[in-house]
Amino acid sequence: MAEHRPVAQNEDPVCGMTVDPAEARKKGLAREHEGREYVFCGKGCYLEFGDDPEAFLAVGYVAQM
Ligand SMILES: [Zn+2]
Repeated sequence: MAEHRPVAQNEDPVCGMTVDPAEARKKGLAREHEGREYVFCGKGCYLEFGDDPEAFLAVGYVAQM
């Protein structure tokens, strides 16, 4: 299992925005990866993460818009 940087439960791992997990789930903007949930600000980040989750969770990745 790859090493991941710390990402808060309410943090969009792609852009770094704070996201309300309940809202994200309602909108279908939450997904699971390796046993934990990640939430996203919008469809763009959701899809980007889906393409290559490890790239956004890699130690050294800096979340930015
Ligand atoms: Zn985002």
